[in-house]
Amino acid sequence: MRLLVTFAAALVAAVSVLAADPPPPRPQLLAPGTWLLPGTFPEGRLPDGNTVLFEGATGLVVMDTGRHAWHAQAILDFARSHDRRITDIVNSHWHLDHVSGNAPIRAAYPQAQVHTGLAMERMIREVWPDARERSEASIAAGRIPAAMVPDVRGDIVTREQPEALRPDFPVTRTETRRLDGVELASHFAPHAATETDVWLYAPASRIVAAGDLVTLPVPFLDTACVQGWHDALAQVEATPFVTLVPGHGAPMDRAQFGIYRKAFAAYTACAASSAPNARCAARWLEATAELRAPEPADDGRAREMAEEYVDLLRANDGNGARCLEPASRGGTRR
Ligand SMILES: [Zn+2]
Repeated sequence: MRLLVTFAAALVAAVSVLAADPPPPRPQLLAPGTWLLPGTFPEGRLPDGNTVLFEGATGLVVMDTGRHAWHAQAILDFARSHDRRITDIVNSHWHLDHVSGNAPIRAAYPQAQVHTGLAMERMIREVWPDARERSEASIAAGRIPAAMVPDVRGDIVTREQPEALRPDFPVTRTETRRLDGVELASHFAPHAATETDVWLYAPASRIVAAGDLVTLPVPFLDTACVQGWHDALAQVEATPFVTLVPGHGAPMDRAQFGIYRKAFAAYTACAASSAPNARCAARWLEATAELRAPEPADDGRAREMAEEYVDLLRANDGNGARCLEPASRGGTRR
């Protein structure tokens, strides 16, 4: 998820004390040879996406690398404690909560190959060159809550190490890739949560690693193209997965994914109607209560974010702020 200025402003009120760094995430076994390293989303901080670790023939394949140093360190600790090098990194998309660990991982394992979509290249070339200036200005103007300033400074560092982020193997179509002996259906989802999303289906374990096509407590719609996102969720549904690991939030079974997909459709339809944003948010919270349990304390933040994303969609003709439409649907919007 990108840093939304409105989101940051909303959090100013919510943060009364500086949040301490959370404990490092602990690996959870999902299936033989497959683990989840859960991303955290501490109050007042920016999130880390989930990481999925696949055991290969000689090393580890890592899907997404988090934002914070504590998350990257947990990935490195996992590799060391299992006496395995990291051979491949798959980044589901360019958002900094999914890629910032690339640099420390590649520093430890220079041979690790990066697989991701080409939107990463565009961000490096077109959007990030003046990002430091904008971030520093936001910090200087007091628009970033104090607890979040280290996160924003960390993001500046990540953007200035683009060589760790560039794909060695760009994902431009759906195909099966064998990475360190692990068979992975590498799905290309254009114009969804970002311009070029990647999600994985592992036939051996029937696990989907969905990236930010599936996120809790709300869908992070900052850079969304809503129609492409719907299409991608339909593609996910079409695989015979048993367990789905979202970009943020706990693993889901098929029934839970069905709840999410239906709630996503209802929420985006509500945003496209003239219903008050509070009603769209309330419906989202109600529909996804089971998925967000056992974190009901999150409801205030989830409600706030769900309302803000309705406003964002309405301000951008039904999409996120940086949706580049496919050429067949009218070319580049901005
Ligand atoms: Zn994310």
